[in-house]
Amino acid sequence: MINDKSKHPASDEEKRKQSEAKINAFLAECLDEGWSPTKCPSGCVVEPDGVCPHSFQSVALELGLI
Ligand SMILES: [Zn+2]
Repeated sequence: MINDKSKHPASDEEKRKQSEAKINAFLAECLDEGWSPTKCPSGCVVEPDGVCPHSFQSVALELGLI
């Protein structure tokens, strides 16, 4: 029976939680400053409840944070 404890495959779930926490912290800062990023390829930023000229809504709006 193979029981190799030196192998610790990175948990995707764990990674996902960490990056989610980072994004949420980043978003909280942005919202604090009165703006929000969007997923627009042009890198538009908008008001927290806004939509960029390319029809990408703010990430805060998309995530239902506001
Ligand atoms: Zn845009």
